[in-house]
Amino acid sequence: MFDLSGKAALVTGGNGGIGLGMARGLAQAGAAVAIAGRDKAKNAAAVKQLGGKAFALQADLTEEKSCRAMVDEAAQRLGRLDILVNNAGMNVRKQPQEYSLEEWRLVVDTNLTSAFVAAQAAYPHLKRAGGGKIVNIGSMMSIFGAAFVAPYGAAKGGVVQLTRALACAWARDNIQVNAVLPGWIDTAMTKRARQDIAGLHERVLARTPAGRWGVPEDLAGVAVFLCSPGADFITGSAIPVDGGYSVQG
Ligand code: NDP
Repeated sequence: MFDLSGKAALVTGGNGGIGLGMARGLAQAGAAVAIAGRDKAKNAAAVKQLGGKAFALQADLTEEKSCRAMVDEAAQRLGRLDILVNNAGMNVRKQPQEYSLEEWRLVVDTNLTSAFVAAQAAYPHLKRAGGGKIVNIGSMMSIFGAAFVAPYGAAKGGVVQLTRALACAWARDNIQVNAVLPGWIDTAMTKRARQDIAGLHERVLARTPAGRWGVPEDLAGVAVFLCSPGADFITGSAIPVDGGYSVQG
């Protein structure tokens, strides 16, 4: 039920952190995996870790052309495309009144617009494969507010609504579209956050019922599940993977 043998997957931002954790899970479940990111060295190191036939594509997802070319090249080199994980993301943390429009656009383009463009580019490939799976990565900021996340929260809230719209539109094509909302996970992104925000580390620990930060491997299982035949009737959902953070009163 959770076997992905014969399936081909593209994971954006798969060269580190959560994306690499998910890519590893998909590969272990039998999928052929392509990852994408801007940084050549990180791409090469991740491919080494993934082993097998994994390969990396260099792409800047804030650029439409690059994003579409990434999807087409992945499908061409994999021979098909069954799974797209829209994971690439970044944050600029400031008070709302301090953002330039350029910073707003960078955050929204990276986290939200790239997911739309990649999904649009993937659609004909998924249809050709007889259906497929799209997994979009949201955040606790898809649910909650915080003072320092105006564009990131807007983008991650948008990711959930984009997920629902695509799920409705493409269900008849046998394409299931779901979102995963990670809690606080120890990655390069949150290392920076912990440096920027005093007391964040302790606040997360105190609020997370599981009593720990997540690790990228915590996201592998949900990726495999959502991309497997076991989840064929699940679409449009947004699943928190957060050690209970979002249900703590
Ligand atoms: P990392 O910073 O470790 O990874 C981000 C990934 O996105 C990298 O692979 C990076 O590759 C890629 N990326 C960023 N910008 C671009 C771009 N313009 N074009 C192509 N690739 C890009 O962060 P995480 O693993 O923590 O984050 C992964 C996702 O999970 C993000 O969407 C994030 O918002 C989300 N998330 C993370 C949480 C956490 O606690 N860590 C919590 C909730 C959500 P490169 O630099 O090579 O381009």
